[in-house]
Amino acid sequence: MRTKIISLILLAAGIAAPASAKTLNVFACEPEWGALATEIGGDKVSVYTATTGAQDPHQVQARPSLIAKARTADVAVCTGAELEIAWLPMIAQQAGNSKIAAGGPGSFDATSVVPLLERPARLDRSEGDIHAGGNPHIQTDPRNMIPISKAMAAKFAALDPANASTYSSRQADFEKRWTAAIAGWTSKAAPLRGVQVAVQHHSWPYLQNWLGMIEVTPLEPKPGVPPSSGYLAQVLQKLQTQPVKMVIRAAYEDGRPSAFIADKAKIPAVVLPFTVGGTDQAKDLFSLYDDTINRLLAGLKS
Ligand SMILES: [Zn+2]
Repeated sequence: MRTKIISLILLAAGIAAPASAKTLNVFACEPEWGALATEIGGDKVSVYTATTGAQDPHQVQARPSLIAKARTADVAVCTGAELEIAWLPMIAQQAGNSKIAAGGPGSFDATSVVPLLERPARLDRSEGDIHAGGNPHIQTDPRNMIPISKAMAAKFAALDPANASTYSSRQADFEKRWTAAIAGWTSKAAPLRGVQVAVQHHSWPYLQNWLGMIEVTPLEPKPGVPPSSGYLAQVLQKLQTQPVKMVIRAAYEDGRPSAFIADKAKIPAVVLPFTVGGTDQAKDLFSLYDDTINRLLAGLKS
């Protein structure tokens, strides 16, 4: 019954859509890819971002409004590496849009063009929310945006050859500004090198790899499994022998576990935006990293 109603809503949405779109319709799974698509596509693309910085990208409701947007999408720009495995395949299928389904011409996975950290040697789902392809949280290292922006420009050009030169020149301009910004962030973040941290979810290996921070422990017993108070007591014990300067979490995560650890271990709890819109300061792709570095440095000082 429910699916019947959804199908009717979709039918209505399909009929209401304009017959010929002049721009590429981009369905961005997460805000960082929506922001990058806008950098690369400018006014040649119409970007719809499926999630906000307040949402957990691992777990997203396949709402009718999302399915309706997926129906008219020419390209889906997503993280891949199983981050969206619980929702995107279902949305693409419900939308009946084979273009954006896995392997379709309009399917774009950012993780397909960067080397992934932490590919598990052995896949055991009982170990929690393990991603078979490696850790998908690549957007926490801005250096990854360069190969991704190139691949995205190539994908847009393949789907919309008339505007290929626009995509390629916008990518070149982005890469120039981005390379300069990375140099600024890296030098500003120098005090973070070698700093030991605890993290709520194991979301930050790329950030740590970039800035030279060292993760002592996550607060989750297994990826995606919220810690019990008993488990947090074990974490506190570990922090007595391996002290950390701060505990880090993404803005969308429940603040209680890291607040508890911060209080007991007398360290700051640092909330990072994780994506565009995760905090008020992380307004776009550039301010996402400005704010991330500012917040880490503030954590180090307090
Ligand atoms: Zn994760």
